[in-house]
Amino acid sequence: MQEITIKIKKKSARQYIQGYPLLTKEAVVAWPDVAEGTVLRLTDEANRFIAKAYHGNQNKGIGWLLTYDAEQALDQAFFVTLFKEAFAQRQAFFHDEATTAFRIFNGEGDGLGGLTVDYYDGFLVLQWYSNGIYKWKQMLVAALKRAIDTRGIYEKRRFDEKGQYLESDDFLEGETAPEPLIVKENGINYAVYLNDGAMTGIFLDQRDVRKTICDTYAAGRTVLNTFSYTGAFSIAAAFGGAAHTTNVDVANRSIPKTREQFSVNELDPTAHTIMAEDVFQYFKYANRKALAFDMVILDPPSFARTKKTTFSVAKDYGKLLEESIAITNPNGIIVASTNYAGYGMEKFKQVVQEAFQHQGRKYRIVEQFTLPADFATRSSFKEGNYLKVLFLEVE
Ligand code: SAH
Repeated sequence: MQEITIKIKKKSARQYIQGYPLLTKEAVVAWPDVAEGTVLRLTDEANRFIAKAYHGNQNKGIGWLLTYDAEQALDQAFFVTLFKEAFAQRQAFFHDEATTAFRIFNGEGDGLGGLTVDYYDGFLVLQWYSNGIYKWKQMLVAALKRAIDTRGIYEKRRFDEKGQYLESDDFLEGETAPEPLIVKENGINYAVYLNDGAMTGIFLDQRDVRKTICDTYAAGRTVLNTFSYTGAFSIAAAFGGAAHTTNVDVANRSIPKTREQFSVNELDPTAHTIMAEDVFQYFKYANRKALAFDMVILDPPSFARTKKTTFSVAKDYGKLLEESIAITNPNGIIVASTNYAGYGMEKFKQVVQEAFQHQGRKYRIVEQFTLPADFATRSSFKEGNYLKVLFLEVE
């Protein structure tokens, strides 16, 4: 494979030597116009080798570092080794019969930024985050198949192909998965669809949060699950003995999908409230009816526009919290979650503190989560650990 030499600015060389995996334009002395997917040989200004990387545009980056060995070929064998190492680190998951869906390769956290691989009971779902990594698809899929036996493979292209993107089939090869495919997580069933757009029906990174809701906080409580999607948090709460769950999501498809999640667990969906409604409209309704809950779950997308409101975590999380605090019973729990990359945990805690202050209520942080073990991250790349979840006990 042809390699292009790229000089790294003096002030940035150190961070790359120390393991920072994301290549940025600002770090480069002069950026040539090379095609995405090109292998880059990074050197310092004195031409000393630092690392090999590839070029792919993803958010604020222009590529990812791959190896610090100047002689290492970036061939199929290299990636087979990388995949096998990642899978070996997840042996506990492969051996856990109560959990059949988890992440087996987490991008830069496992040494290859731009690609994640999720395991759904023998089926793989690949997510490609740049045009550059997608150019390596053939070799990477071949390497994957040498590293693990699969029933079938699906893919999601999560990058802008400049209008080229046709809402196409996500199925790649092997057997096709049943629809729905029933996976297990800590003994609870979840219906997933591997070929139904960007999302499968469950967010695997919330596994530990669902388990904690189920095991520790749900018993006897009434639960309001906002931005509920397929109701996964509510299923976990119901398993943990919740008295009742109310599920609110603006998307109509959430109603049948949430019913289905209850049904595949032999729970009666009609015993729960499942609504297609804008969350902010729902808060108004709850206030009018003087409703209050023992647990309120907040897990919004970073940004969303509905017919009635535009929501962005950066501007509106405080408001969302305040609305929630107002309808949480004394000694109730608010589960506040966000995957917004612009917030670190400390900033998020500050937003929480201000919201409670405005409402004149006291609280205690009783649980705190970031990404689970299968979503491997690196200490040299803190931004990779995007998930922040706080369990807040309201006085
Ligand atoms: N908490 C869910 C995942 C949420 S995904 C889980 O754990 O599975 C984000 C969801 O927010 C989507 O289903 C989307 O339809 C919904 N959504 C976005 N804006 C909304 C709004 N203003 N009111 C209600 N739901 C909204």
